[in-house]
Amino acid sequence: MTEREPRTYGDWNVKEGQERCIEDVYHKINDFRGTRQQCSRKRGHGPDGLYCKQHAKAKLGMRQTDRFSSCSLDKE
Ligand SMILES: [Zn+2]
Repeated sequence: MTEREPRTYGDWNVKEGQERCIEDVYHKINDFRGTRQQCSRKRGHGPDGLYCKQHAKAKLGMRQTDRFSSCSLDKE
């Protein structure tokens, strides 16, 4: 079994915090730019327990939305 590469975040390739949700969130720096950074909430939910409660829910919601959008494509 091989160890996976640590995830990195944002323009500075900040390494993943092992205790935190792996979702990357958009962090606004000012009106002109922003960066991606790791979610600061504690993990423990969702697939493999890698997400915070909020993002775990978002993951599940997203899957449902996918299903809905493919349904609406069939409408025509
Ligand atoms: Zn999160």
